[in-house]
Amino acid sequence: AALFGVSRTTSINAYRCLEQQGLVETKVGSGTYVAELSITRENALSGVPWHQLFTPSPQSPLSSILRELVDTNLDSGNISLAAGMPDPAFYPVKLFQKLFNQDKGGTNKADLGHIPTEGYGPLRLSVAGLLDAKGIHLSMENIMITAGSQQGLYLISKVLLEPGDYVVVESPTFIGAHQVFQASGARVLTLPVAGAFPFALLEDYLIRYRPKLLYMIPTYHNPTGRVLPENQRRELLQLAARHRLAILEDDPYSDLYYGEEPPPSLKALDTYGGVVYLSTFSKILCPGLRIGYAAAHPALINRLALEKQYIDLHSNNLAQILICRLLDQGSLPAHLAFVRAEYKKRRDALVEALRHFCHQDLTFSLPEGGFYLWCKIQVPVLSGRLLHEAAKTGLSFVPGEAFYSTPDGEREIRLCFTTHPEHLLSEAAKRLSEVLARLARA
Ligand code: PMP
Repeated sequence: AALFGVSRTTSINAYRCLEQQGLVETKVGSGTYVAELSITRENALSGVPWHQLFTPSPQSPLSSILRELVDTNLDSGNISLAAGMPDPAFYPVKLFQKLFNQDKGGTNKADLGHIPTEGYGPLRLSVAGLLDAKGIHLSMENIMITAGSQQGLYLISKVLLEPGDYVVVESPTFIGAHQVFQASGARVLTLPVAGAFPFALLEDYLIRYRPKLLYMIPTYHNPTGRVLPENQRRELLQLAARHRLAILEDDPYSDLYYGEEPPPSLKALDTYGGVVYLSTFSKILCPGLRIGYAAAHPALINRLALEKQYIDLHSNNLAQILICRLLDQGSLPAHLAFVRAEYKKRRDALVEALRHFCHQDLTFSLPEGGFYLWCKIQVPVLSGRLLHEAAKTGLSFVPGEAFYSTPDGEREIRLCFTTHPEHLLSEAAKRLSEVLARLARA
């Protein structure tokens, strides 16, 4: 691209088009290759040029990164610190069985038919109770159950953003949010996460671009683990109120603290009604239930429900009933206490092993909660190359650039410390240090 004077963005876009047409494929940490055309019987017989029929797709190389990460097989002896996953060994399966079996035949048959798009009524009530305990005082009209918070993100983006609108995000931020905003066609403005909150920069954006939305993960941020201090939360809300800015607070991790409890959520501190709150049971119970929720003004909930109706009518009843029973029987606090204690041990084990094996080659700050250790590579090795070589030893993680919409993160990596027990985290740190040292010498 440099040779022909084409900008980096133009060449990336050209690669994306080719990828959408199935002509090239992107391999994480390695590059873009001409796609192998697998001539299966079905491909060979297809009389329809599928790729030419597709509507323009927002798919980016990031989509393939995310899918590869989720596909990583946990049982094959590989150690994946890539996907943001709880340990499947901690899924409360016995409890689920008990809750399902406890009132055989007692389930109201109507609960297994179609229910309102906003969600199973008793679960919406229980979620309101859960939020009440966190200082968020709302009624069930403010709550919609979603298929994970990813669906909440998509719906909010769908009803608020259109091509040409501006959305402000932290940089780096959650990959799934990048994808959704990219799909909306909105223009993305970024706020650096490192250091104190950049109020002046945000205010400049607000005056110059009038963005429709600010997307934030204030507590145990993905990927950096950062917690926005309470005084900065209050200052942010004052600024947002002055400019009538809508804030989307994504909060999947705040129950997973390993020391002191985090500050109140933005939603709990919100006095101007501008905060939309999203959370999920994916990180605290298990992601496969696909149950999350949005808490917002009823006008927005109604509009979101209309949009959700087009997609799936309502989220799965069985999963909603199960979580509702779990909440109503008061089983969540004990489960949370258990996983917090285990994840704290795992965080500490990974931190100790990295300090022991990698010394100053990788630096990080200690996350007070959540799932991730965000590491900076202090030797001349790029994160994509590191992943490529580490993958050969059966170790994976997410290279930093996946979390940026700008060309950054080449010297950063995200390690998820919750999926594996301590001895595997230690083994992961050892493999990482060996690959890092080898590449640094090369
Ligand atoms: N938001 C953030 C910040 C996340 O880290 C994740 C999961 N990685 C999600 C949303 C999506 O979670 P869910 O499984 O509820 O869709």
